[in-house]
Amino acid sequence: MTVTDYNKPLPPISPDSQPYWDAAKEHRLTAQRCDDCEKLRFPPVNSCWYCLSPNTTWIELSGRGTVWSYIIMHQPYYQGFIGELPYPICVVETEEGLRFISNLVNIDNAEIEIGMPIEVVFDDVTDEVTLPKFQPAST
Ligand code: ZN
Repeated sequence: MTVTDYNKPLPPISPDSQPYWDAAKEHRLTAQRCDDCEKLRFPPVNSCWYCLSPNTTWIELSGRGTVWSYIIMHQPYYQGFIGELPYPICVVETEEGLRFISNLVNIDNAEIEIGMPIEVVFDDVTDEVTLPKFQPAST
């Protein structure tokens, strides 16, 4: 799909988050790990929330987690979503303990449950941007 076909908002990409989006294009879900205190963090920032260290390594996450919370969106804030209403937005808690806001896909809204196992899937929405989304876990 080309940029001109995609009519939903795209994420702002900053120098801090560029590695995250580069990995997503390669269908890898990543997060920053502090080199000094070894804690994980998301979203990406240039220094550790816990110890303020600027030393960071990007690590690959398993892509597995659970639904920590979710909502069903009924309001068409963006034109591109009108045909998909009502659709779910979830807070994923990854196996590593990070929380992401994402789309929940390939599930009926009535079947969504807090705590259900989910896994990442990658949606190549434009030539430049791939969005990590989540679906019910396959196993
Ligand atoms: Zn730290």
